[in-house]
Amino acid sequence: MILLAADPGAKLIAGGQSLVPVLAFRLAAPSLLIDLRRVPGLDTIVVGDDGVRLGAKVRWRDIEDDLRLPGAHPLLHAAVGHVGHYQIRNRGTVGGSLAHADPAAELPGIAVTCAGEIAVSSAVGQRTVPASEFFTGPLTTELRSDEVITELRLPPWPAARRWGLEEFALRQGDFALAGIAAFYDEDAQGRARNPRIGVIGACSRPQRLAAAETELDGRTVDARTIAAAARAAAAVVDPPQDLHADAQYRRALVATLVERALRAAAQRRSA
Ligand SMILES: Cc1cc2nc3c(=O)[nH]c(=O)nc-3n(C[C@H](O)[C@H](O)[C@H](O)COP(=O)(O)OP(=O)(O)OC[C@H]3O[C@@H](n4cnc5c(N)ncnc54)[C@H](O)[C@@H]3O)c2cc1C
Repeated sequence: MILLAADPGAKLIAGGQSLVPVLAFRLAAPSLLIDLRRVPGLDTIVVGDDGVRLGAKVRWRDIEDDLRLPGAHPLLHAAVGHVGHYQIRNRGTVGGSLAHADPAAELPGIAVTCAGEIAVSSAVGQRTVPASEFFTGPLTTELRSDEVITELRLPPWPAARRWGLEEFALRQGDFALAGIAAFYDEDAQGRARNPRIGVIGACSRPQRLAAAETELDGRTVDARTIAAAARAAAAVVDPPQDLHADAQYRRALVATLVERALRAAAQRRSA
């Protein structure tokens, strides 16, 4: 942290899976690279009554291999299975993904959808930033140049929660053209409570789709409710247009993925 504070041109490197391509394309030219691998204490996964805490150096593979997480946070576990290829999952880290803030990356999407919090430290102190405020645009975050991400905190996941995760990518391992994470709890009458629908890939940053969540809240999740939520989601996203897909295609894709995710959620409880 002292090195980072002393040199404004310094950059942290964790798994290198995003930074090395950035350096290779000469999109950044740091004066100093600070390797996080030997920094102690940032590589643990804590599962407790207060939820799941992922240290910044936790790799995708650590999440995949952790036998507690399919029960403690099935949405997180499922999302990591969509990240890149095995080789990338073997090196890429939680902190690197959050700091890089690719709008199509899975973990920022999960962090926002689940109302996670990101803990950061600098030479002068520590603070916690809600994930909903952390991502400010494509590859842009609230993180200051002298700060290090130390942890992602995800709130507890109720055992009976219903959830679904759907993505579409052109090839396996590619970043998704769009992805939807959805979940809700059920009241005694079987109506949806606390619904969340988050999107990646179809907006400039990961975000929740409040209009679609409203269509679910307090309702039975049947075909009619699902169709209304899908329409609302497509209406509020602001998809990018790039060489992979145009905005209209991504908007239609969002509707389809919301529908699929909610159908899966209606059939799947967490435990
Ligand atoms: C071919 C390919 C396909 C991929 N597909 C996907 C995909 O489908 N989904 C997906 O989510 N990701 C994908 N990725 C990205 C991959 O998951 C990256 O590993 C991840 O985004 C960055 O993690 P890292 O540890 O490698 O970070 P690095 O590359 O080491 O660093 C990335 C950035 O984060 C900063 N940083 C790193 N750690 C910290 C920290 N603790 N605090 C503050 N700043 C920090 C660095 O300074 C740098 O700016 C893909 C990558 C490749 C090369």
